[in-house]
Amino acid sequence: MPVITIERKVLEKNDVIANQNREKFKSKNLFVMNFVSSPGSGKTSLVEKTIEFSRGKFKIGVIEGDVQTNLDAERVNKFNVPVVQIVTNGGCHLEANLVRDAYKNLENEDFDVLIIENVGNLVCPSSYDLGEDIKVVILSTTEGDDKPLKYPAMFRNASVLIINKIDLLPYLDCNIEEMKKNALSINQQLKIFEVSCKTGEGLSEWIEWIQKNVGKS
Ligand code: MG
Ligand code: ZN
Repeated sequence: MPVITIERKVLEKNDVIANQNREKFKSKNLFVMNFVSSPGSGKTSLVEKTIEFSRGKFKIGVIEGDVQTNLDAERVNKFNVPVVQIVTNGGCHLEANLVRDAYKNLENEDFDVLIIENVGNLVCPSSYDLGEDIKVVILSTTEGDDKPLKYPAMFRNASVLIINKIDLLPYLDCNIEEMKKNALSINQQLKIFEVSCKTGEGLSEWIEWIQKNVGKS
């Protein structure tokens, strides 16, 4: 019981800051997405492709979360968009206070969409509100079609599911219809996109969907 109490207090404190972040983001008219997934599903590739495909449509800023290194921020930086790296030093998820402090570095930059790339982990990032408008869960075809059933909390709390690496489907046992069925059994409201960050397939639909949300939060 004491453990539960401590955890609840941590989450309550996080929620207060998350709501302050949300107010701040609203005042800047930002559409904010929190990208969550297990390591290796292609979060950073999706960030890169989203920047590339959004050129001339809307502007993006990025907060990169990683356990170690600023390698992902360096990848994103090549696209000449505002980016800041949070290194958690072993921490397995981002918290609202880290996002608040990181955003201070972006506050004077001009962009419409903020992408927060969370630490690769399908468990605790589902409990930590960062002040985002939506969570986007990324699942790659290499991870197997039963993932949504194994990590239901993440799929319940997400608004969008991106199924990545569909170019690999011919080589895998992954049944994409089964994957979608499993995800929708956890959360009927999930908006699903099937994409390949390698070939670019499906990305235009994803960009169009984001564009509809720009300026509306
Ligand atoms: Mg990454
Ligand atoms: Zn964690």
